Amino acid sequence: MITTYHRPQTLEEALTLLSRPNTVPLGGGTLLSHPSPDPISVVDLQALGLNAIKKQGNNLELGATVTLQQLLESEYCPPALKTAIKLEAPLNLRNSATVAGTLAACNGRSTFACALLAFDAKLTVEGGRLTVDGEGGTSNGQRSTVYGLGDFLPLRPRGLITQITIPLNAQSAFEYVARTPSDKPIVCAALTQWNSGRARLAVGGWGKSPTLAMDGTEAEGLEPAARNACHEATDEGGSAEYRMDVAATLAKRCLENLGANP
Ligand SMILES: Cc1cc2nc3c(=O)[nH]c(=O)nc-3n(C[C@H](O)[C@H](O)[C@H](O)COP(=O)(O)OP(=O)(O)OC[C@H]3O[C@@H](n4cnc5c(N)ncnc54)[C@H](O)[C@@H]3O)c2cc1C
Repeated sequence: MITTYHRPQTLEEALTLLSRPNTVPLGGGTLLSHPSPDPISVVDLQALGLNAIKKQGNNLELGATVTLQQLLESEYCPPALKTAIKLEAPLNLRNSATVAGTLAACNGRSTFACALLAFDAKLTVEGGRLTVDGEGGTSNGQRSTVYGLGDFLPLRPRGLITQITIPLNAQSAFEYVARTPSDKPIVCAALTQWNSGRARLAVGGWGKSPTLAMDGTEAEGLEPAARNACHEATDEGGSAEYRMDVAATLAKRCLENLGANP
């Protein structure tokens, strides 16, 4: 339950507030507004000016409070990412849910996180605390760190995500299988291939986070990589064997569809 609400006007003020116990960032509030037994203080990010989408060279920079719908409607949003965003949440939620809140709270069925994992999205996190191997903090625990999404997801380090960066010099594809066309996926696959040939495949549909299946210098070996990523994917939604077969097929379809919507 939200018991205290802050709306700081500067990033510094926000980071100071967030260093207090039981105090978390408030994005769109679609998850945080759910009833919970514990009292929490929230730091609303809406006055910080983090809601811009900027094209910088070959990159697209998303402020943390850009909403899913704002990104979906952006002229720069790659078509495969649009498909993944539409599956992430229905329109009313997309209008509130932010890109950072969605990644901070995502599970393995998040189509948005799966697509961004294939894009090798980078997250700028301010004020992160010491996490593993002595990285991620100064003596007072405040600093700015850039995480690849693949590193961020298993750690979910404390701190404020301020920016998410995705490449635009790449082609991408997204495929999924679900019980209905608008349901969360049982298996999804996202493929990004850069002009250099580098190919990155992510799969999702189960577990705590989507899984990086392959990051290679070319797209050779996608299907076995997709299978390997599903070895421990058994849950109430499907068996690992089923997901291995489906993921391999989806990976093949992604490769066939790359560049269909450049
Ligand atoms: C009816 C309904 C259905 C839903 N269905 C699903 C579902 O099927 N699957 C699913 O995954 N989610 C679901 N959600 C949860 C929610 O919609 C998503 O997780 C949403 O994308 C969260 O985004 P938000 O901006 O609203 O985050 P918030 O609710 O504001 O915050 C979510 C979490 O992210 C953290 N956070 C927010 N911004 C930042 C930031 N800048 N830096 C660091 N941490 C941050 C918050 O502290 C909090 O822990 C549902 C919610 C509702 C209301």
